Amino acid sequence: MNNLIWFRNDLRVADNSNVSKACQGLSVMAVYFFDPRHYEVYDFGFKKTEKYRARFLIDSVTELKANLLKLNITLLVFHDRPENVMPNLVKEQEIKTIYLQKEWTRDENKVLDAVISKIPASIHIEEGYEQFLFHPDDIPYSGIENIPQVFTQFRKKCEKYSEVRSIMKTPSLMPKNNLRGTDTIIPSLKELGLSDFEIDTRTAFPFKGGEEQALKRVHEYFWETKKLGYYKKTRNGLLGKDYSSKLSPWLANGSISPRTVYWEIIRFEKEIQKNNSTYWLIFELIWRDYFKYVSLKHGSKLFKIGGILNKEYLWNNSTEAKRRWISGDTTEPFVNANMKEIAATGWMSNRGRQNVASFWAKELQQDWRIGAAYFESLLLDYDVHSNWGNWMYNSGVGNDPRDRKFNIQSQAERYDGQGKFQNLWLQERLF
Ligand SMILES: Cc1cc2nc3c(=O)[nH]c(=O)nc-3n(C[C@H](O)[C@H](O)[C@H](O)COP(=O)(O)OP(=O)(O)OC[C@H]3O[C@@H](n4cnc5c(N)ncnc54)[C@H](O)[C@@H]3O)c2cc1C
Repeated sequence: MNNLIWFRNDLRVADNSNVSKACQGLSVMAVYFFDPRHYEVYDFGFKKTEKYRARFLIDSVTELKANLLKLNITLLVFHDRPENVMPNLVKEQEIKTIYLQKEWTRDENKVLDAVISKIPASIHIEEGYEQFLFHPDDIPYSGIENIPQVFTQFRKKCEKYSEVRSIMKTPSLMPKNNLRGTDTIIPSLKELGLSDFEIDTRTAFPFKGGEEQALKRVHEYFWETKKLGYYKKTRNGLLGKDYSSKLSPWLANGSISPRTVYWEIIRFEKEIQKNNSTYWLIFELIWRDYFKYVSLKHGSKLFKIGGILNKEYLWNNSTEAKRRWISGDTTEPFVNANMKEIAATGWMSNRGRQNVASFWAKELQQDWRIGAAYFESLLLDYDVHSNWGNWMYNSGVGNDPRDRKFNIQSQAERYDGQGKFQNLWLQERLF
């Protein structure tokens, strides 16, 4: 029985039921697609994926390939649309079952439907939810439609009635497969139509993509520096690599599972210390889950101007406001510093994201979806649910029961009182 693992946003071998299940067959192979559509200009005039996340992805796929090879599984990598490649691939390799992570957003559905329409109906498609902390089968709600509109209600009920599943065992070595055809090559940034770049020395995210790199970061943040024990005090920081866990880019493309992070926190609580900070990282992982459930419940409303509340605000669409916001040339130095950071690195802190989003949508009253699309293009940790869900939340069309607007100047005073962050990004660079 030949099984194929189709990797999308689950780029890991460990704690991945798609890998575990596929390895129960006699022969297993794997595939990943750099889909050209992901590197094209998209809605609102931005490339769907810019160079920062693309490089992170290239590194992630490179490590995935190496880790799979340790199990004798070959990862084929194509720079092509899945629906162009899959029909021949499944035929040549006599595939019986395709295993993949279940996604539910529009673009992912379209691609899967296009593949299914072109391959024999006899091929079994097995999809598993690999991206959650609380598995959809384990949450205390009888149907997705009953997911509450307010996070706190969701969190409290899950904390009381749900359990995080234990980590799955990594499968043992497979027999060497005799894959027909030759090895494939991971495309370069240039081949994806993107320019090469040097990492900005000011970056707060000086890390590389990949499953090993994610574990390395957990090791460093939890065990070496024990920063996890102070997380709640530092999490609103703006400077350096250690004010927060920085795990989001690996979580977003699935190089690490939220369960792995959760069980490491529990181990830390047992072996080092249990406090508000260790709990707060779990709290944030539940936010991550919540936005996924909001997206499951509301589907394409996530991308509609009225959001999940069907709100009718008067939104502007000014090219000049967009230019100024993106280039860090607004009336607010704190917004400008954050916008320069994301443009130079693909990273922005949570505090920064909240402020620049509030400024764009609430202060300037510009179409919030433009801001979300810009973030989608640039962010190293772009995740469809977290990005569009947080943007809705900060724009008054989502799950914030208080519908707050940030006072940017008092935020800057509170979180960057000495102006260190603003100086870092707003000073003229001599080199
Ligand atoms: C406008 C806006 C857009 C955002 N877009 C994204 C996005 O595309 N991808 C993304 O992963 N996060 C997004 N966030 C959430 C948050 O800013 C980042 O997850 C966080 O800054 C990542 O840094 P960290 O890993 O050090 O987080 P930590 O503070 O260490 O938190 C640990 C983990 O919890 C999760 N988490 C923390 N805060 C949130 C949150 N508000 N919503 C959802 N999950 C959270 C992340 O997976 C994060 O890695 C967005 C927030 C805003 C306000």
